[in-house]
Amino acid sequence: MAELRQIAFYGKGGIGKSTTSQNTLAAMAHYFGKKILIVGCDPKADSTRLILHEKAQCTIMQLAAEAGTVEDLELDDVCKPGAAEFDPANTDITDGFIMCAESGGPEPGVGCAGRGVITAINFLEEEGAYDQDLDFVSYDVLGDVVCGGFAMPIREGKAQEIYIVMSGEMMAMYAANNISKGILKYANTGGVRLAGLICNARMTDREYDLAKHLAEQIGTQLIHFVPRSNHVQRAELRRMTVVEFADQTDQAFEYKELARKIIDNDLKVIPKPLEMDDLEALLMEFGLEEEVEADAIGKKASA
Ligand code: ADP
Ligand code: MG
Repeated sequence: MAELRQIAFYGKGGIGKSTTSQNTLAAMAHYFGKKILIVGCDPKADSTRLILHEKAQCTIMQLAAEAGTVEDLELDDVCKPGAAEFDPANTDITDGFIMCAESGGPEPGVGCAGRGVITAINFLEEEGAYDQDLDFVSYDVLGDVVCGGFAMPIREGKAQEIYIVMSGEMMAMYAANNISKGILKYANTGGVRLAGLICNARMTDREYDLAKHLAEQIGTQLIHFVPRSNHVQRAELRRMTVVEFADQTDQAFEYKELARKIIDNDLKVIPKPLEMDDLEALLMEFGLEEEVEADAIGKKASA
């Protein structure tokens, strides 16, 4: 049995964690035959929608609430095979498969959603979800690491390899730096490591250079620069990954590349987060230079 790698995708809300992770994991299963369990750790429960071709109907917290306690649940109730080509029963398509679970959470504004994550991961472990023949467990975690529950996969050493999804936007970079602080805090106790930044392009000025520079400063790599593409929306509307819906497109190729890089990745570091001033200086260095150029262009245009 292959050694199980537990990876996680962190990043600011809306940055593209669920989209990027599902597309990349689909490529890992489809092209590279990897056996994967996705554990969605967001009350939105949309970490597996593109793989299941539907929103998960039964989250662990929801079923536990209905049953009265999580002890009454069966693994099969909450851990579902992906649609058609990702279903382990469908082995003639590919060796790879994806199983899907969603932690779910309380009603908005009621209780700590992070507790759902803790309960869910413990339940899956106890019920043997991790004992199947798996290459990867992947956590898709809600952005806010300040809340203890969401830091849990990091804190308790569940996720060993963290990929931070970010962009050239200030808040996305700020969040990436903050998540690095969280990883640093638990690096010695839980053994968690930062494995790379994934820039999910927002088309900001000099975005690639900025992301690469931030990665270097934090002591990690920019593992991949994922372009912005409307194929993502076209596929998403059909509840599919680009890898499944439009596998001949450049965008599908980008996710395949990221999949290959993650499979081959052995750069796992204890991050060196930046001080706030240094982070702002970095943003200005790249942003302002561009402004000067834009000014020059503006002057040329009006001359
Ligand atoms: P998160 O899980 O970080 O909150 P999502 O994965 O739900 O973010 O992404 C938010 C939206 O951004 C999605 O609805 C998706 O359509 C869009 N999106 C993500 N990545 C890309 C991309 N590379 N190109 C175009 N749209 C994207
Ligand atoms: Mg998400």
